[in-house]
Amino acid sequence: MEEAPTVPITNYSCRFCNFVYTNKRALINHESTHYPEKLPFSCPSCPKVFREKYQLQSHLYTHDSARHFKCNFCGRTFRHSSSLARHKRSHRLTLQNHNR
Ligand SMILES: [Zn+2]
Ligand SMILES: [Zn+2]
Ligand SMILES: [Zn+2]
Repeated sequence: MEEAPTVPITNYSCRFCNFVYTNKRALINHESTHYPEKLPFSCPSCPKVFREKYQLQSHLYTHDSARHFKCNFCGRTFRHSSSLARHKRSHRLTLQNHNR
């Protein structure tokens, strides 16, 4: 007649097949079986993993916006300040034309 107290159970479900585990470690082990091979390059800022180093590197740029040089006229971003400087010159020409 005793009713079991309701124990809050955290369920961890597999992202790939929705198999549910109550143990996070077991789930992580299980999920790794879905990977065709180990993905050695993991992003330090988010859970993404990559097979190739260049994929991770280009992904890192999406986190690190400070590395981008942004044009304050049109919002375009550049990886090098020299590219931005050259780009900005094109704006100056346009502005001069408009202002006459
Ligand atoms: Zn699974
Ligand atoms: Zn990331
Ligand atoms: Zn611009």
